[in-house]
Amino acid sequence: MDCNSFVDFVRDTYSTNEFIPLHAPTFSGNENKYVKETIDSTFVSSVGKFVDDFERKIEAFTGAVKAVATVNGTAALHTALYMAGVERGDLVITQALTFVATCNALYHMGAEPIFVDVSHVSLSLCPIAVENYLAENAEVTENGCHHKLTGQRIKAIVPMHTFGHPTELDELIFVCRKWGITLVEDAAESLGSYYKGRHTGTFGDYSAVSFNGNKIITTGGGGMVLCANEEGGQRTKYITTTAKVPHSYEFFHDEPGFNYRMPNINAALGCAQMEVIDTFLEQKRKLACHYKEFFAGSDVKFVTEPEYAKSNYWLNAIVCPDVEKRNEILKYANKAGVMTRPVWQLMHRLPMFENALRGDLTNSEYLEAHLINIPSTPVVRSI
Ligand SMILES: *Cc1c(COP(=O)(O)O)cnc(C)c1O
Repeated sequence: MDCNSFVDFVRDTYSTNEFIPLHAPTFSGNENKYVKETIDSTFVSSVGKFVDDFERKIEAFTGAVKAVATVNGTAALHTALYMAGVERGDLVITQALTFVATCNALYHMGAEPIFVDVSHVSLSLCPIAVENYLAENAEVTENGCHHKLTGQRIKAIVPMHTFGHPTELDELIFVCRKWGITLVEDAAESLGSYYKGRHTGTFGDYSAVSFNGNKIITTGGGGMVLCANEEGGQRTKYITTTAKVPHSYEFFHDEPGFNYRMPNINAALGCAQMEVIDTFLEQKRKLACHYKEFFAGSDVKFVTEPEYAKSNYWLNAIVCPDVEKRNEILKYANKAGVMTRPVWQLMHRLPMFENALRGDLTNSEYLEAHLINIPSTPVVRSI
């Protein structure tokens, strides 16, 4: 595959000579109408019917028992970790190949990450790598799982379903149970992705979804905590609403809460986007198929969903065996106005996490050097 034919192919797919971004939002439904309604009613802030509607729509779509809307995905993750009982000084296992928000959220709980490798199939946290790390470094006492070297409690495991490809959840849940560790899913990228027919984000007690501008649907900024039980859902709502004890005019708060509620004006966008999410998912699946055919038989591998999963194909990705070729494609395509980018720099390379504990990161390091994300906005015309 040469750079020129790739750029031509993407230009032809999107039938445009303009700049092609990696992922742009699409507003073709009731977005204008609903947002205007919030302005006309003056209910633009954190109370209003669209917030409730949006939460119920996400519950219906994902099968989560309770969904609680937040200001963004990072806030949803922060809340999910809080609700899962992560405390100051705890360790949390996650992947080095992720967006920084995963680590920021646990950092702000006063916890520290342990970086473990991803699977080369799902690009998401590898259950075998987690088990190997724990077998070598952890022990279970009556107070839970602890790191043998530092004595810290290992409280949670946070897999991130990279680019929408679900990790092997059955195997990961087995490891969580064996070691007495809580599962919290970073499902920020995986709205519309299923593991063996069940929606991602419904396996952990608490999970986080993001509706940032580049995600599968957007509310401008926004997120959602998915909760596995009613009681946890109610507490999540309460803690993201400044822990205010309900009263018609008195202000009383009985613990330090978060002000993380999603404003009604953003939820209005979310309701309109949920009306068309099935179309987005269909178009993204077609686009992925289209790319798969293009790269078939070439030296470049197009990343496809694992056989046990149905992915939303949020961000399409290719893996180039030759690093120089990878860098050449990045340079050529970006210069030609077709946005492509390498995966995030691994978390242990960032100054604030460079001293974090970590296991073997062979797959993560390989992907960091060989992977490219390619344009993934749903294509409207038939391809
Ligand atoms: C987008 C994203 C988040 C949350 O991002 P926000 O911009 O705060 O909504 C968290 N984790 C991952 C992996 C993400 O891609």
